[in-house]
Amino acid sequence: MEADLIIIGGGLAGLTTANRALELGLRPIVLEKGKEVDYPCNSRYSGGLFHVAFKDVTKPVEDIEAAVKAAGDFSQSYPGGDSIQSIMSEDAAKALCWLREGRAKFIKGGQPEFMRWMLAPPRPRGAGLDWKGRGPDVLLRRLTEALQEAQAAPRLGWRAVHPLIEDNHLVGIIAQGPNGQEKLRARAIVIADGGFQANMELMQRYISPKPEALLQRGGGTGMGDGLTIAETAGAALIGLDSFYGHLLGRDAIENPKLWPYPVVDTIARSAILVDQAGLRFTDEGLGGVSMANAVAKLADPMASVVIFDEETWTGVAADNRYPPCMNPVYENAGGKVFAAPSLNELAFKVSVDPDGLSRTVDGWNDAVDTASFSNLSPPRSVETFQPEPIRKPPFRAIPVIAGITYTMGGIAIDRDARALDQVGNPIRGLYAVGSASGGIEGGPSSAYIGGLAKAVITGLRAAESIAKER
Ligand SMILES: Cc1cc2nc3c(=O)[nH]c(=O)nc-3n(C[C@H](O)[C@H](O)[C@H](O)COP(=O)(O)OP(=O)(O)OC[C@H]3O[C@@H](n4cnc5c(N)ncnc54)[C@H](O)[C@@H]3O)c2cc1C
Repeated sequence: MEADLIIIGGGLAGLTTANRALELGLRPIVLEKGKEVDYPCNSRYSGGLFHVAFKDVTKPVEDIEAAVKAAGDFSQSYPGGDSIQSIMSEDAAKALCWLREGRAKFIKGGQPEFMRWMLAPPRPRGAGLDWKGRGPDVLLRRLTEALQEAQAAPRLGWRAVHPLIEDNHLVGIIAQGPNGQEKLRARAIVIADGGFQANMELMQRYISPKPEALLQRGGGTGMGDGLTIAETAGAALIGLDSFYGHLLGRDAIENPKLWPYPVVDTIARSAILVDQAGLRFTDEGLGGVSMANAVAKLADPMASVVIFDEETWTGVAADNRYPPCMNPVYENAGGKVFAAPSLNELAFKVSVDPDGLSRTVDGWNDAVDTASFSNLSPPRSVETFQPEPIRKPPFRAIPVIAGITYTMGGIAIDRDARALDQVGNPIRGLYAVGSASGGIEGGPSSAYIGGLAKAVITGLRAAESIAKER
């Protein structure tokens, strides 16, 4: 055996697994398909907010658990998935402690609770992608250095392609390395490849009828190799139809300064999101991740527009608690915000049916006045985000697209991050961690619990489980 475990992917989930495995006396090999030392991945590009279900991870477990359940309690809906989501609340504080043991520094990123633990140094609160030397990049470098010191540096430019199965047992992995395909053997394989958001075939099968109309809001490295490897080895796949992402201004397609920040969610969750007929099609009150999923599911994901008024533009859109705020950052970075003195004129400018839009806005304003949001079609929830009227000119519009960061479903796992088969039994030697795993996030309400925390918590659990089974 070349190693105790082979880890597919050198993002936060993979590097956490490898570092913890080393601490426990195991020999890990990390295969990373990126060739450069600062290879792209979502972990490196991340905003660095370490939270679980938007809670401060040092809060009592019961509080965090309640927030996880409120986000979307669905993990009991598949065999072996019982209480898998609870590992997020149970291990939240432990994961933070592990990171703080010389691996990462944190600062308070802002007043809202989910900003309590932000990887330092933080990224500037501006538009566009800025990762070099920021907290998440520094963390990945530290984790890599620790592996290098133990002669276990990630193998860059290695892409895992197939499981190695002998006598019906998974015994290793077939990987494409610099000198061609090789068979690598280990008693455990840990899939940490970050999801399938960059695989257009899988995206069309599970996420959107037109995946090319979504914008990659991240490293764009998740090709679903791990999903295919696990499925070939008999694993069950769960919740593949939802993703973590945000609404982005459509100009982001041409203008790289408009992604990953700012996000249009901050306006849309107070306003209305309409299609070309001027009709609402989703509950904006569920927030940006849910809206991005709804846009992706449309026959034409490029045809939706956020409509709001001057009050919202100078109010919530300029609220600096969730930086960078859309007003003025979006326009300063080159994004177009359409404005007109009447709704009719605005509708023409953004190719939306004016009669449909007028009826939608009338109904919306009535609902705001009478607080009767359940009568709207679709109903608008008000528990999290306050709906604002659309009355004060100039009226404004931003055409949007769905930005996809990572797929939230994936390989079904148990509480030890062991991959499960179709009837819920663990598959010997197969694990999935981070965004490759399913059952923790997603589900009917596109529940987002926290990608960084999921990477560390599942990574620690996988390494500890492999050590136990020695
Ligand atoms: C802009 C942005 C902001 C974010 N902000 C936050 C935040 O503030 N808080 C938060 O909790 N989450 C945030 N996230 C999400 C978070 O970054 C991810 O959920 C998390 O980092 C995923 O880690 P991972 O290791 O599972 O995947 P990744 O970091 O994507 O790593 C997967 C790795 O696997 C490699 N790989 C893929 N296929 C193969 C293969 N076949 N063989 C070998 N290697 C392979 C890839 O190259 C990649 O390096 C953000 C993400 C982005 C992009």
